[in-house]
Amino acid sequence: MGKIIKLECPACHHYEEIIFNNDNSDKELGQIISRLSDYEFDIAQQWLKENEIKSYKSVSVLTFCPICKKLETSNILEITSFSGNRKSFGLRCDTCHTEKDIIDIDNYIPCPECENKMKIVEMGY
Ligand SMILES: [Zn+2]
Ligand SMILES: [Zn+2]
Repeated sequence: MGKIIKLECPACHHYEEIIFNNDNSDKELGQIISRLSDYEFDIAQQWLKENEIKSYKSVSVLTFCPICKKLETSNILEITSFSGNRKSFGLRCDTCHTEKDIIDIDNYIPCPECENKMKIVEMGY
């Protein structure tokens, strides 16, 4: 089901295991929203009141909080309205509410300890 990526920092030897598990893919919009943090839940509720939903999708991505230096997977909810408004939820850090960076795993994965580029040692399912 999920994808596992094992990472190691060549500089400080910090080790991370990242698990991608997008268990939101077949859920109703209301259920996905109820899993957002309290902070984003309120914003999402307000947005849904003001916009008519055309489509939504939930994707699992690797994110990095530039403040907390936390590397984690986040389930991002993307909603598009009939009037063309688009909004993403799930990118705010639970701890500091900063918008996390989406990490391209083929490019640069920052080490949470020293921000050096981490190396993928193993990728599996
Ligand atoms: Zn490091
Ligand atoms: Zn943070």
